[in-house]
This record gives sequence, structure tokens and C-alpha cells, in this order.
Amino acid sequence: MRLAGRTVLVTAAGQGIGRASALACAAEGARVIATDINADALATLAGAMPRIATRPLDVRDDGAVRALADDLGPIDGLFNCAGFVHHGTILEITDADWAFSFDLNVTSMFRMLRAFLPGMIARAGETGDASVVNMASVASSVKGFPNRTLYGATKAAVIGLTKAVAADFVRSGLRCNALCPATVDTPSLRGRIAAAADPAQAEKDFIARQPMGRLAGVEDIAPMVIYLLSGESRFVSGQAVLVDGGVTI
Ligand code: NAD
Repeated sequence: MRLAGRTVLVTAAGQGIGRASALACAAEGARVIATDINADALATLAGAMPRIATRPLDVRDDGAVRALADDLGPIDGLFNCAGFVHHGTILEITDADWAFSFDLNVTSMFRMLRAFLPGMIARAGETGDASVVNMASVASSVKGFPNRTLYGATKAAVIGLTKAVAADFVRSGLRCNALCPATVDTPSLRGRIAAAADPAQAEKDFIARQPMGRLAGVEDIAPMVIYLLSGESRFVSGQAVLVDGGVTI
């Protein structure tokens, strides 16, 4: 069990990559705090696996984030997974779009880190290792994609945030890495495909940009989350880790 003895908190665990990661962490022996704004989605996780506790959490609510950190006490692993994909060029982004995406995709990570890092650093002082994984994307400072201006800007910010946190705490046993998947088959991706003018073509286009010839499944991403949260990656910090099906070869 690669996460035995570790307590791991996952945001946006109600569906998609967050949900698969929460289940995978529990299967590897972690005590998992699965959080999401959607209590109904979370409810389907409760009892799905031993060691998973569910807590509703809106990562845009600083008071709720601080209250949860106070209530839980120190944790060993934090997977900041919550994020939203805005579709459109820079000419289609409103001020409200910009503020919402930065708040959910970036500022929420600032809130979570500010609230949970003191406990994680203390925990790392006891055990030698604590680990943060921040969800970024290949659509970021890694690579540009059409209609992903706002999304790419937020995910590039996540990578910058990640590297700075890693640099500040590298001597304390606290590690911080960013995860950069290519396109993953999740409920929100299905929504983006369904919202396209020609959904069948949209799905083909998503697949065509992945050299391995398919979408990633959540099961392609969760193993990297496990690795980064576990002691196996104890010499890895400040990295933007790609799981991209060959997009950047
Ligand atoms: P998803 O978009 O299907 O689900 C997102 C989850 O976030 C939902 O359960 C939703 O209830 C929750 N959520 C929304 N607002 C929230 C809030 N304010 N507080 C807490 N939870 C909230 O999931 P996904 O597609 O697996 O995406 C998860 C992360 O992975 C996102 O950060 C996304 O940008 C990133 N990502 C996704 C892909 C992809 O192709 N799916 C690729 C690269 C990166």
C-alpha cells in the first residue's frame, strides 16, 4: 500500500479525475478526505471504498476552506484538482469569465495552500515528507491550444504557483508539483463535446490532437497522482509533470 499511513485531501472529488484519484488513493491505503461543491456527487463516493470520508467544500469560499483545515488538522497530501475550462478566444472572454476562472482555477489553490500548508509542514517535520499536487494542464505554459486563452493562462499560473511554493519549502520536506494532463474523458469533457456545433466532429478533433490516438481515461491519470503523493516521488518537487499521450513529443 503506497499511501498507507497518509491522510490525503482531494478537491473536486465528486467526478472525473478527482473522483478516480480519491478512489485510487484509498485503494493504496490512504485515509482520504474527498471534497466537492456538489454534495450529491460526493454522496456516491461515501461508502464506495473503506477509508474515504466526504466533506462538501466550495474551494471559492475562504471561510469554508479555513474551517475545514482547522477541523481536520494536519494532512500529508493535498490534491488541488478543482478547475473549469473556459472555451473561446481572447475576443470572447468577459471580465466576469476572467475573474471566475482565475478564482476557481488559481485563487482556490492559494486559499487551500494558505490554510493547509502550516499543518502539512508540521507533518513533514514528523514524517519527512508531505506532498501537494496542483492540477494544471498541457494547455498552459507547456503548450497553446485554440480556444483555451483563459484556461491556459490560469493553468500557467498554477505552474508558477507550484514552482514558487516548492522553492520556498524544499528544505522542510514539503513538496509541490503540478500535474499536466492532455484531454481526459470526464463528465465535463463530455459536456464540452455535447455543446459543440458538431459533437461527433468535436470528439474526433479532441482525439486527433493526441498522438496516441485516444482520449486519456481517468485511470491513466490517477497513477501519477498516487506517485506524486507517495514517498516514491520524495526527490521530485517543483515539476510540471506531463501525462499527455504524446502531445508534446
Ligand atoms: P470535471 O470538470 O468533470 O468535474 C469537476 C468537479 O469540480 C465537479 O465534481 C464539480 O462539482 C467540482 N467543482 C466545481 N466547482 C467547484 C468548487 N467551487 N469547489 C469545489 N468543487 C467544485 O472534472 P475533470 O474534467 O476531471 O477536471 C478536473 C481537473 O482536471 C480540472 O482542474 C481540469 O481543469 C483539469 N484537467 C482536465 C482535463 C480534461 O480533459 N478533463 C485535462 C487537463 C486538466
